[in-house]
Amino acid sequence: MTDWPVLESQYFMHVVERLPLTIVRGKGARVWDEDGKEYLDFVGGWAVNSLGHCHPAVTKAITEQVQLLIHTSNQFYTVPQLRLAQLLVENSCLDKVFFGNSGAEANEAAIKLARRYGQLKLDGAYEIITTLGSFHGRTLATVAATGQEKFQKSFSPLPTGFVNVKYNSVGAIKSATSKHTCAVMIEPVQGEGGVNIPDNGYLAEVRAWCDQKGILLILDEIQTGIGRMGSLFAYEQYGVEPDIMTLAKGLGSGVAIGAILAKDKAAVFVPGEHGSTFGGNPLACAAGYATLKFVIDNDIPGKVKAVGGYLIQGLAKLKTKFPFITDVRGRGLLVAVEFKDDIAAPLVMDCLKKGLLVNQLKPNAVRFMPPLIIGNGEVDEALGILDSVLLAK
Ligand SMILES: *Cc1c(COP(=O)(O)O)cnc(C)c1O
Repeated sequence: MTDWPVLESQYFMHVVERLPLTIVRGKGARVWDEDGKEYLDFVGGWAVNSLGHCHPAVTKAITEQVQLLIHTSNQFYTVPQLRLAQLLVENSCLDKVFFGNSGAEANEAAIKLARRYGQLKLDGAYEIITTLGSFHGRTLATVAATGQEKFQKSFSPLPTGFVNVKYNSVGAIKSATSKHTCAVMIEPVQGEGGVNIPDNGYLAEVRAWCDQKGILLILDEIQTGIGRMGSLFAYEQYGVEPDIMTLAKGLGSGVAIGAILAKDKAAVFVPGEHGSTFGGNPLACAAGYATLKFVIDNDIPGKVKAVGGYLIQGLAKLKTKFPFITDVRGRGLLVAVEFKDDIAAPLVMDCLKKGLLVNQLKPNAVRFMPPLIIGNGEVDEALGILDSVLLAK
């Protein structure tokens, strides 16, 4: 059998410390390696495999689309793109859609749109306030938006026009606001930065401040959107409406797609100001439509709320049993467990050996982002493996 790790070190750029597992097949919440060993997948492709692996509804949609039309230039109308745009608008508070290919691209588009809005409506304001501990992507502008030094330090000079301020502090946003500010960009819950849940009033107060100043509120729902938090979009749980929202991860069930949605007043692009060769192609949009339609028609957000609650309850029991668990937090199926010591790396390895995939969030924390279609049985299975692994710690 080919030694894939050796091939990787020979041919692939060393951008990630991979885990010793080559996945060759997936179905539902499970994946298999070359030897046929089965794993319960609580990483879900980093919150991407919303309907699990190779969901029949998605596989059917892309199989049909791939025989009909894969790509055409965006100078022509295509059916899947417009159907998905309509479905997104009809099920959100936003009015217009543009598709890209990833989360970073969606945020780049949001940044451009906010700057264009600033030029047109805010006397040339261009600055965007973002929060410390956030994650907005890996392109230069989104790295500048990402308030984490570890992602920024190797790539100076970064594009200017971003201010990173304390998360969960309306005061910090207020003090950073100037005549140059055109927008505030935040994740409703910080995902990559630690599953950091803000105080209940935070988003509403930020919304009120943006209204008072006439600046835009951009919500990065790339990780929290499409049912992940137990509502179709996270903003619904906080009683606010963004002016601009970005989506990606869970939208295509694994087919690359990103989306930017805007209220009519903020959708100020005119022809020539933005575009994409691949963005919104029929294949990606067919996957997005199949995913979103299934999520909506089957009340997946409601099920996520229930099963996510069950998972958090089970983890809270483990916390009582193992005092070195210092925190269990999350909403829906975006959940983190934090430990007293830096045991996340060996814990991830031990779980892997026992057939459970979990994500290391920090040296002392792990994250669960399983497919949204899991049931209590899969949660019990995962909790059982975690219990046995923690028992040995
Ligand atoms: C993953 C993520 C991104 C970046 O998405 P890519 O598809 O990796 O470019 C941006 N924002 C948030 C909140 C994310 O979780």
